[in-house]
Amino acid sequence: MSCNHIFDESGICFECDERKQMTPSEFKQARQKLGLTQLALANAIGMTSKMVGMMERGQAGIELRTELAIKQLITESDKE
Ligand SMILES: [Zn+2]
Repeated sequence: MSCNHIFDESGICFECDERKQMTPSEFKQARQKLGLTQLALANAIGMTSKMVGMMERGQAGIELRTELAIKQLITESDKE
């Protein structure tokens, strides 16, 4: 039986615990929320600006560690 997925705030399904993957537009919005350029974000999370651009255009997958890294940056910026 397939799950209809009801995701909570952290993007985990209540029913099956599957994780909702960050979309390219969500990734770009997160970067813009942080006020960072592609290069600045790339430096902050340890990748190249080329990779960041590719992820924003949906040409490269957004790995879980990348998603967690950008969420961590947002959490830290919210504290200030
Ligand atoms: Zn589900």
